[in-house]
Amino acid sequence: MVKAVVGANWGDEGKGKITDMLAKEADIIVRFQGGANAGHTIVNSYGKFALHTMPSGIFYNHTTSIIGNGVALNIPVFFKELQSIVKQGVPMPKIIISDRAQIVMPYHILFDQYEEERLGKNSFGSTKSGIAPFYSDKYAKMGFQVNELFHTKKLREKISQICAAKNVLLEHLYHKPPINEEELLATLLEYRDMVAPYVGDVSSFLHQAIQDGKNILLEGQLGTLKDTDHGIYPMVTSSSTLAAYGAVGAGIPPYEIKDIITVCKAYSSAVGAGAFVSEIFGEEADELRRRGGDGGEYGATTGRPRRMGWFDCVASKYGCRLQGTTEVAFTVLDVLGYLDEIPVCVGYEVGGQVTTEFPVTPLLEKAKPVYKTMPGWKQDIRGVQTFEALPENCKAYVNFIEEQIGYPITMVSNGPGRDDIIFRKSPLKK
Ligand code: GDP
Repeated sequence: MVKAVVGANWGDEGKGKITDMLAKEADIIVRFQGGANAGHTIVNSYGKFALHTMPSGIFYNHTTSIIGNGVALNIPVFFKELQSIVKQGVPMPKIIISDRAQIVMPYHILFDQYEEERLGKNSFGSTKSGIAPFYSDKYAKMGFQVNELFHTKKLREKISQICAAKNVLLEHLYHKPPINEEELLATLLEYRDMVAPYVGDVSSFLHQAIQDGKNILLEGQLGTLKDTDHGIYPMVTSSSTLAAYGAVGAGIPPYEIKDIITVCKAYSSAVGAGAFVSEIFGEEADELRRRGGDGGEYGATTGRPRRMGWFDCVASKYGCRLQGTTEVAFTVLDVLGYLDEIPVCVGYEVGGQVTTEFPVTPLLEKAKPVYKTMPGWKQDIRGVQTFEALPENCKAYVNFIEEQIGYPITMVSNGPGRDDIIFRKSPLKK
């Protein structure tokens, strides 16, 4: 049985916590897209961890953690993360890195930086992890797959060929020093030695695991609104964030993904540039940011303060639809307990018309939020274990949002820990 855990919005919805929780029942956890540009924060009995590349299952010793072919693999970041986790007392996880995964090259990180500098005020707010240059090269067929590290002669030739093209840009577009081929080869050989113990044929491993009836969890990074095709282009990430891509990025048949758990946070937050219709500002935003998540809404990778906003039913309904949601995990509800009233964005006004359909970017940029205000519950709901035991106004908030988005909310998360979860019987769940 294959399940996917994905985000409906801009990322940071709490997917890490939900994956970590579901990983208890899983045999295999797979990262299938993205790279070290976003992070998950996970709190468990070993401590608090910010993961960027590692699948969230690494804390259980019964799981195998997989880096699928769709991932942008930053080898030194991966190993730093692995070492630091083991240093904090987590048993050495079982890891397989796809032999077809491609490598984030040191120059991808530089190009990301140089391009953001060149764009100046029009920059994307990239985390400068090299993700856009990486995926551009992958699809321009200028990338390096992990398996290529093991063929030194061919590797050397390919480096020469690629550096010739890269150095033209470095010299003439960015006015920066060229890549030194010998140094790059030495770095890649170091990378080879780091990954060698973990490299394997992931799709054949997963094929067998499916045959054997294993539980496989596909772990998405970011959310629908950052998807290259269906997100707020061009303020998107450079890989698909959709559950459907899980099939491609892990190498499994699409029809094997039976359950798609889409994570929605009880309010909105976003990092980077781009339209954000229900965004709030000033003291109202600062307070939500301070109280948000577990210790404030600041980027797990960059520490940047996140942009804050009210729950957006238009974006979330769209986000859930594109994911192919079978159930929704509704997270961080506990944080809203301080508010007297909670605005919820139920429509967008675009050119004098109200719509509940998520528009294309030029229209999105003109959209104004239409709010419905819900009464707050003014209570701490952490520790509550059943949906029935939640305050009436809190239940009404969840019920209202479920009606608006049209997908069943089957889990409500009321704290950052693994056990802070309420299972809910949804009228929409068939
Ligand atoms: P991800 O990238 O989707 O995994 O999200 P992040 O890890 O960046 O952000 C979620 C943040 O919220 C983390 O700090 C989590 O520990 C925290 N978190 C997750 N679920 C809950 C919850 O239900 N309540 C609270 N207070 N924090 C939560």
